[in-house]
Amino acid sequence: AKSSGGNNVTWFRKDMLLSYNERLSMRTRIQQGMNSQEFSVHYQPIVGTQSNVISGFEALARWPQEDGSFIPPGVFIPIAEQTGQIVELTEQILARVSDDIPKLAQIGQEEKTYVSVNISPLCFTRGIVMDLLKEVHAQAQESNVVLQIEVTESLFLDDKTSAKDTLEALRALGIQVAIDDFGIGYSSLSLLYKLPVDVIKIDRAFISDLTPGTDAFKVADAAISLALNLNKKVVVEGVETEAQLAFCREKQCHAMQGYYFYRPKALAELMNLQHR
Ligand code: C2E
Ligand code: CA
Ligand code: CA
Ligand code: CA
Repeated sequence: AKSSGGNNVTWFRKDMLLSYNERLSMRTRIQQGMNSQEFSVHYQPIVGTQSNVISGFEALARWPQEDGSFIPPGVFIPIAEQTGQIVELTEQILARVSDDIPKLAQIGQEEKTYVSVNISPLCFTRGIVMDLLKEVHAQAQESNVVLQIEVTESLFLDDKTSAKDTLEALRALGIQVAIDDFGIGYSSLSLLYKLPVDVIKIDRAFISDLTPGTDAFKVADAAISLALNLNKKVVVEGVETEAQLAFCREKQCHAMQGYYFYRPKALAELMNLQHR
């Protein structure tokens, strides 16, 4: 676990703190959780920088517990990835998203709303998810909603050609592809222009320290400029302050996601918010 400076510990993964036995029992619990449909999805609205209204949503897995608490995805997702359970879990999440799309379309405030789903690399090696994505995409089209998937750069490390081909095929159908957490992975900026992606999501670690003149600032600034120059849409994650918002405006990023605007919420809560 490595810190990227400040309080922002990007490389920290809670699963690393679990013992072998704890992980084993977590695997069993995840299976039980999936069998009894315990996993749910929250949606975090994403705000257009120009329009200043909700342009899309990111779907984020939630695992509520009987005592009212949540096990954070930072704990169960890495384990589900290690055990392969992420494939089934993603299927369940996509099914929820599919059901929720018509309502998300109503809450979205731009002409066309998009819904973004995180897809782990393992889901690409097991083809089932791709068929499901096509189904959800068809469903989304009926509601005039764009389906987007978020992949991490590690996808392109594991397997250079076939993942790219799959992404190209999905894009040809009209599914948008976003690179998630850009900047904290292996990425080489030089790789960016070769990747079949429409959207770059700038990791919040990049904008956590926005003091002009600092190296961190220069890196964020340069990464965003590069992405924009490559004609990618840029979404900045982790916008929490007015200063970060101003930075996104100034850089002319396309959209912003962060607690400054909205926290991830259950669909029912989002519906209430709309009628405020
Ligand atoms: P992510 O894909 O980078 O998702 C964004 C995370 O940042 C979410 O954490 C979100 O709640 C959080 N976030 C959003 N705005 C802010 C902000 O302004 N400040 C701060 N401090 N945090 C903010 P969450 O929901 O805990 O998810 C953590 C990670 O778990 C996700 O990071 C993603 O990598 C993974 N994950 C969540 N749901 C899924 C899923 O359905 N499938 C897969 N494969 N991974 C998922
Ligand atoms: Ca994401
Ligand atoms: Ca992210
Ligand atoms: Ca992240």
